[in-house]
Amino acid sequence: MISKSPVWHPFTQHAVLPDAVMISRGEGAWLETADGRRIFDAISSWWVITHGHRHPHIVQAIKDQADRLDQVIFAGFTHEPAEQLARRLVAITPPQLEYVFFSDSGSTSVEVALKMALGFWRHSGEKRSRILALEGAYHGDTIGGMSVGERGVFNAPYDPLLFDVERIPFPRQGREDDTFAALKAACGGGGIAALIVEPLVLGAGGMLIYPPSVLAEMKRICEAHGVLLIADEVMTGWGRTGTLFACEQAGVVPDIACYSKGLTGGSVPLAVTLCRGDIFDAHYSTDRTRTFFHSSSYTANPIACAAALANLEVWEREPVMERITQVSATHAKHLEAFRDNLRFANVRQIGTIAALDIVANDAGYMADIGPRLYRGFLDRGLLVRPLGNTVYIMPPYCSTAADLGQVYDAIGELAAEIA
Ligand SMILES: *Cc1c(COP(=O)(O)O)cnc(C)c1O
Repeated sequence: MISKSPVWHPFTQHAVLPDAVMISRGEGAWLETADGRRIFDAISSWWVITHGHRHPHIVQAIKDQADRLDQVIFAGFTHEPAEQLARRLVAITPPQLEYVFFSDSGSTSVEVALKMALGFWRHSGEKRSRILALEGAYHGDTIGGMSVGERGVFNAPYDPLLFDVERIPFPRQGREDDTFAALKAACGGGGIAALIVEPLVLGAGGMLIYPPSVLAEMKRICEAHGVLLIADEVMTGWGRTGTLFACEQAGVVPDIACYSKGLTGGSVPLAVTLCRGDIFDAHYSTDRTRTFFHSSSYTANPIACAAALANLEVWEREPVMERITQVSATHAKHLEAFRDNLRFANVRQIGTIAALDIVANDAGYMADIGPRLYRGFLDRGLLVRPLGNTVYIMPPYCSTAADLGQVYDAIGELAAEIA
């Protein structure tokens, strides 16, 4: 008899889901349980795995770096993997993004972005300290990340700790002008430091997609009012939406950009916040009170940086974009069959992300059908975690058409069972 696990899992109601699945191996797009079952990782282990589990080039880079230098303080010290990685990130992003600040997770990269924006305005001598965010947004689970994210059941107990943010309505199709008008009004009110957005798709908010032209217009409005645009590309980065970064599709250059999840191919944790030169410059002073006071113990961990460098090499050496195109085409083909099916609504796709809503009386994240679907998928050897009645697939790029076909078959079957 194995004693009860002391592990407290994330986003897990232990009273409803008592047993976590024990995973012992990962390979490509597949996981293997301790008792030998295979599970297709249809959500890239929470959106992080891009090329597949244990990509040999990334694994080798981790081993080699662990043999040389494991960790070193990053204040006043530096190392080759961080230097090279920063240079290469600057090279593959728009030329306006000149500086790279390292951290360890998407949430911390957002905290850094918010602090950069407020530091910039304070050191520039302008009174701007308020943040704008989109309704339905998700930016992480730290206090700052929750503050700029959608309020609800997820963060109600912590509400007294969260700071006030002005919300701009999500640009619903046909109602984009409401978004623009609200953004203009908010910017016109003064005191706004930055608008933070998930470019082109709100992830945890329900895989809500909006067009590049809307992102471009939001950027234009921000610019007209001197408001900084923070692009939270934590989920959308690294090919997810069909381009390396989602902002590219809109021709938008953010003032600050956050990347994490796929930065190391999903192998080890790492995040970066890139910013414009003048944001760095505003902190650059012999006055030490203008220092950017942020760090975490593992800032720019050498092993994580080596993994990220190896990820960039995979992008250079392997036909990653072709795989993305393949996955996208497979989604498009399968989704067609769901469009006229009355059991489904809002069938949608952007790049490697496909989503559809199962029509149910009880919708929303806490909908009962969410856990039922999750179980049903798992019983079929598929890792899919619906957001309420929204089922989405966000697979590793090495997934085959046959792998994805299994998920779509299961969606059809489970929706029929639930109806
Ligand atoms: C996942 C996510 C985060 C938080 O990243 P963590 O690594 O989980 O802290 C922030 N923003 C977006 C858009 C995300 O999808």
